[in-house]
Amino acid sequence: MTDKYENLLNSCVNVLRSCKKFIETNIDDEGQQQHLNILNDIAKSYCEEDIEHKRCQAAIDKTIDYFSINSDNDFTRQVEEVYNDFLNQEDVNNDYKQHPIWKRINRPKKSEANVSVDADCSLLVSQVFQPPIDPITKKVIEDPYRNQVCGHIYDYKTILNYMQTTKHAHTRCPYIGCNNNNIQVSFLEKDDQLKDDIEDYLANNNAH
Ligand SMILES: [Zn+2]
Repeated sequence: MTDKYENLLNSCVNVLRSCKKFIETNIDDEGQQQHLNILNDIAKSYCEEDIEHKRCQAAIDKTIDYFSINSDNDFTRQVEEVYNDFLNQEDVNNDYKQHPIWKRINRPKKSEANVSVDADCSLLVSQVFQPPIDPITKKVIEDPYRNQVCGHIYDYKTILNYMQTTKHAHTRCPYIGCNNNNIQVSFLEKDDQLKDDIEDYLANNNAH
């Protein structure tokens, strides 16, 4: 359920990013801002939707805990009442500009100063950005997860597979020269920005 939700949301955000790119390249100055405003309204509503979703999900989880078999809580209370109590206790953080979705849509362009208006943008992007290569498969990483301990990037499926097949109790970071000898899934964090860059890179390079 959670995966489905995350995947759907991710697809929506990617569509928005494509739209934004299209607006920026194909619509001239006057119309452009107008379209970008509409797009930002949609991005804002995605953020608010997600904030509310996470708030409700947290309250649902706490409600399930409340009624779990081994607890001493008052089982005569109505589920809805308990849920609403938990929901009201959840922080209401409406700062959509701090939301990862907003940041993905509105992050500043890299090396914007170096890009001249007349240049072939797709060519420039592919020259500026070099996608990370997975140390195990030697292929371009498509689903980047960053190790919060040593900072190295892996392809998610590859590193999970690698951790399962390693003979030792601890998995060493597969990057040569890295002294991190204990990789754990909980230390891996998805890098959405890098993923966006890689997707752009692959789209541009397949086009040539
Ligand atoms: Zn490392």
